[in-house]
Amino acid sequence: SIELPRHARAAIDALERSGFEAWCVGGFVRDALMGRNGGDIDIATSAPWQEAKLAFEAAGFRVHETGTKHGTITAIIGEEPIEATTYRVDGPYTDGRHPDSVTFVQSIAADLDRRDFTMNAIAYHPVRGLLDPHDGRADIDAGIIRAVGNPERRFSEDALRIMRACRFASQLGFAIEGDTMRGMEYCTPLLASVAKERITKELQGFVCGSAIHDALMACNRILAFFMPEITAMQGFDQKTPYHQYDVLEHTAYVMQNTPPYPLVRWAALFHDMGKPQAFFTDDEGVGHFYGHAKLSIELAKPVLKELAFPPSFSSDVLLLVRYHDDVIEPTPKAVKRMLRRLDGRIDLFRAMCDLKRGDSLAQAPKCRKRVAVADELDRILDQIIEAQEAFSLRDLAIGGTDLIELGVAQGPEIGQLLDRALEAVIDERVENDRDHLLAFVRKQWR
Ligand code: ATP
Ligand code: MG
Repeated sequence: SIELPRHARAAIDALERSGFEAWCVGGFVRDALMGRNGGDIDIATSAPWQEAKLAFEAAGFRVHETGTKHGTITAIIGEEPIEATTYRVDGPYTDGRHPDSVTFVQSIAADLDRRDFTMNAIAYHPVRGLLDPHDGRADIDAGIIRAVGNPERRFSEDALRIMRACRFASQLGFAIEGDTMRGMEYCTPLLASVAKERITKELQGFVCGSAIHDALMACNRILAFFMPEITAMQGFDQKTPYHQYDVLEHTAYVMQNTPPYPLVRWAALFHDMGKPQAFFTDDEGVGHFYGHAKLSIELAKPVLKELAFPPSFSSDVLLLVRYHDDVIEPTPKAVKRMLRRLDGRIDLFRAMCDLKRGDSLAQAPKCRKRVAVADELDRILDQIIEAQEAFSLRDLAIGGTDLIELGVAQGPEIGQLLDRALEAVIDERVENDRDHLLAFVRKQWR
């Protein structure tokens, strides 16, 4: 039932012509059984890597020694890379992240036993068919992520598997089996010893998954290891007519209702994080959260830093969080004012619309008309771009040198004057041409 691409078949044939055994394994087999194709192809083989290299070269393929310590080489077959790894089991993990050693083994069955989840422990051969000793196929059909063997042992061997399970849940829309989840939660503290970049990479996949709502609801106790405020968000009743869910579930719905790119998804994850701390009820028992966006920012900052995101990405996320709740009237003026606050960044404005749309979709049905407002904002931005109207300092018909020529001293005053000029242009108090602007600045400056 699985269609192997030609180059995968060629790799298996090359190894088997040299007298070894080879199977297609891992994500490719899992995805193919789900009716999805694409993705990297991994081959498991009885050949030691040196022998595998000779077999590939004999077939005319180029070979790169990409991980020979773990028995892995990469063959390039018709431009396509294929990884081949010798059957192996992993030795003890004293640091919870790298096996201290790997031991090469004789059988594919032993190799499948060391893999993380049943859905990832299936081998396929174009002639011999499926080899599925852990019933991974049944779990795939049922949409279940289940550890191979004893969950607690498997997650304490390698805590990164906890994050892989979260990511797969979000990307595939699978549920995590009960004992597996208990093992994940029990071993969560071990994540402290896993390399940050590897965690961030899994989290990125998690956050951008197509089933993020269910995955966040299922994995929230694990996520709380990196962002403790998640615990306060869960079960936190907002007591307003606009919200039907607690803050965590609202957040999960907002994420689900935004397109799957990191900037907007991370902003959505953080946008209401400050609500539990900002919350108070008035005399009528209605909930309020004045300034919650500011608190959300303060809570997001250390998380973004801990996860070692590039500073420019972090500051973009924080800008979206900061302004997510500001009302933008669907008028060109209001749109340009917001653009100015976003440093003229069109991409950030689009992300803001995506976030606002997702937020409205996640609120009570009577708030859904705000969705139309977000659409309208996008349209107004299109018109502003089309008409090449000014909304950032770059678009202004004068610049810093013009002001210096006027006699303004170099320093912060230049920026302030230009900013005021831009504000006036956006508010249509002055035209965006050189003479009008210079006259305006002269008046302001005195
Ligand atoms: P993706 O579609 O994200 O590539 P994948 O399952 O192919 O998913 P890879 O990281 O490419 O994931 O790993 C290939 C295979 O190696 C997995 O399917 C699994 O069998 C095994 N594997 C990878 N990482 C681990 C791990 N940390 N512990 C145990 N087995 C692992
Ligand atoms: Mg893969």
